[in-house]
This record gives sequence, structure tokens and C-alpha cells, in this order.
Amino acid sequence: MALIVQKYGGTSVGDVDRIRNVANRVIKKYQAGNDLVVVLSAMAGVTDQLINLAHQVAESPDERELDVLLATGEQTTVSLLAMMFNSMGFPAVSFLGFQAELLTNEAHGRARIQEIHVDRIRKALDQKKIVTVAGFQGWTRSGNITTLGRGGSDTSAVALAAALKADSCEIYTDVDGVYTTDPTICSKARKLKKISYDEMLEMASLGAKVLQIRSVEFAKKFNVPIHVRSSFNEEEGTMVIREEKDMEKVLVSGIAYDKNQARITLTKVPDRPGIAAKIFTPMAQAGIEVDMIIQNTRAGGLTDLTFTVATPDYKKALDIQQNLADEIGAEGVYSDENIAKVSIIGVGMRSHAGVAAKMFSVLSKENINITMISTSEIKVSCVIEEKYTELAIRVLHDAFELDKA
Ligand code: ASP
Ligand code: MG
Repeated sequence: MALIVQKYGGTSVGDVDRIRNVANRVIKKYQAGNDLVVVLSAMAGVTDQLINLAHQVAESPDERELDVLLATGEQTTVSLLAMMFNSMGFPAVSFLGFQAELLTNEAHGRARIQEIHVDRIRKALDQKKIVTVAGFQGWTRSGNITTLGRGGSDTSAVALAAALKADSCEIYTDVDGVYTTDPTICSKARKLKKISYDEMLEMASLGAKVLQIRSVEFAKKFNVPIHVRSSFNEEEGTMVIREEKDMEKVLVSGIAYDKNQARITLTKVPDRPGIAAKIFTPMAQAGIEVDMIIQNTRAGGLTDLTFTVATPDYKKALDIQQNLADEIGAEGVYSDENIAKVSIIGVGMRSHAGVAAKMFSVLSKENINITMISTSEIKVSCVIEEKYTELAIRVLHDAFELDKA
């Protein structure tokens, strides 16, 4: 007998038939003698609809009220599922964030979980009830409803699994696991049996389609193994787990990409203390996140400085820098929106030399120009022209033999 936390995403509870599919899956495990805590998202599209409604009544909706509204999406699904269990003859009870005593800070819309008191859930489990818990929502000590950011139900599930010391945490979604790269781009993409927390975090944009990034951070911190799998078939998915020794044998485990990037270059910037601070402080103040930064020293006490930002921040960032260029005495500001970042990721890089060099030569064979490079211990990223993204992914996938297990 085990304590199992399962989470089902929006498409898995998108209509009554699908909720019934969830119920049948849960019951199978319940009848085998397990305790079940089922965390749910809102029905697919509902959170978006609620946000849309809010914007029809207010240009910038009050954050507290927006959370009260958004939390209703998950209230609908947990109550429906519990009702369904009860009508099928299985005892069940639903808990909202405050009833599950999932305590967060006060940051509406992006609240962080601080504590969970699981007594009430435990008592229900002791009474052999199936427990359904509303994902995505929490409760502050001052008595307000909060939400955890888009995709936050994943984090609710991982946090509950940690607090309950569950035997397993299964995240059911509409994809059947984590792939070596985007299968819609590369037909040879392969489902990974397992991936380490750190690799999953580096997969960023790719991984985020499968799990909320924060849930992976949480899982890493509390060492909760996550099984990501599909709610539409019985196949094993991908285990997201603590790094294991044999993972280092594989050079590259995945290829991620991000087309949502733009590059800004300031040329002939005076090379003296304080200039970088001048350039990046106003960006931080405007809430713009800078990704890669490269500075090249030129002759004559001048440098060129290039950085990338996410496309939605591009116009704002460019405005800031154009206004700043005169003040700091830069020659000009150049920019390019049609770029993409392609990254190879793998814990094996730590123990193998030459991985970056191989990436560069694979890209050069296709005549793909690399305009920026950044590396971390387990990732090498190259900025290239956006139109070569798909090609780059395919040739890298072949070169690093990601199709082979
Ligand atoms: N319903 C929320 C969202 O759409 C939370 C979730 O599904 O995880 O972002
Ligand atoms: Mg999700």
C-alpha cells in the first residue's frame, strides 16, 4: 500500500467524459489498496477565460480579486471529481487551498508556498477517502486566496507530495513525457526514460511545456521524484529525478530552443567602471530580464556590448538603450529580432571535453553562423538566425545520436 499524489492537467479534466477517465484511473489504484491525493487543474481554457473576463471589467484587475476569480477554475474540477467518486460509491472529499492549509506568501498571482499542514488530508485518508485538492491556489496567514502562477498546479502537487512524504508523485498531462527535443520539429525525437532535475531546469522553454519550472525546483529541493506521463494511455512516461551516476555517460540528453529572443548591441561603448551598471540598471528597474551578455574589448578604450532579452521586452529594452546611448557615449545601438537560441543540455558534459567544439563544427557544416555563445556546466547555448532553428536542431540531434537510447 502506498500514498500516491497524482496531478491531472487541464486537458485531462477538459470535460465530463475526461473527468470520468480520471476517476477510473484513480479508482484502479484506490482499489489496489493505495491512498490517493488527486490534485487538479481547471478545465482546459478556463483560466484564460477567467483572465479575459477580468480584463473586460477592469484594465488592470486588482490582484487580490483576480486570485479570488482564478481560484474558481480549480474549485469546479475538484468538486466535480469528488462528486463523481461519491456517486460511483467511493468515499471522497475535495479540499481548496485554504482547506488543505497550503500557506503561501502574499504575492498574488505568483505566490510561493511556505508551509503545508497536512493533518486534514491525513485524517480524510485515514477514513479511506479519496482526497481531491485544488491545484494552483494557496492561502495566506492574513486569510487571502493566492495563486501560484500559470501552470502552478504542478507545484501544488509536488509540494503536497513532499509534505505528505508520498511514495510517488505522478503528473498526468497531454504529452507522454519529456522528449530529447521538440517532436514537432524533429521526427527522431525520443522520449526520455529519466532526466535529472538540473537538466530539466536547463530545458527551460522546452521543459516548461511539460512542467512548471518552479515545480522542478521544488522537487529538487525536497528530492521528490516526479513521474510525468499521459492521462490518455497506460505507457510509462519520464522520471524527473536526482542525478544518478550513469547519467554522466550520456554527453547530451536534450536540445532546447527559444525563438522568443531578441538581440541588442551597443557599439563603441567607453570602457570604464560603471558603464555596465548604467546599461543594465534601468533594464532591471523596468523588470526586463536579460539573458545572455557578451562584452568585447576593442582597441582605444572602447568595447562592444551585446545582450539578449525575451521578445515581449524587446521594444522597451531598445527604447531604454537608445535613450541611454548618448548619455554613456556609445556610437550606436543595433538590434535583431530574428534570432533564436539553441541549447544542448546534459550532465555528461561535466566529465567530457569537446562537447561545445562538436556543436560548433556541426553548425558550421551547415553554414549556420553563430553570433553569441554561452555555456554553463551542463549546457551550451548558441544564438543563430531564427530561420535555421529547425535545421540546427535536426543536425545536432543526429550528431549527438539522441535518437539512440
Ligand atoms: N489553471 C492554471 C493555469 O491554467 C494552473 C494549472 O493548470 O496548472 O495556469
Ligand atoms: Mg501545465
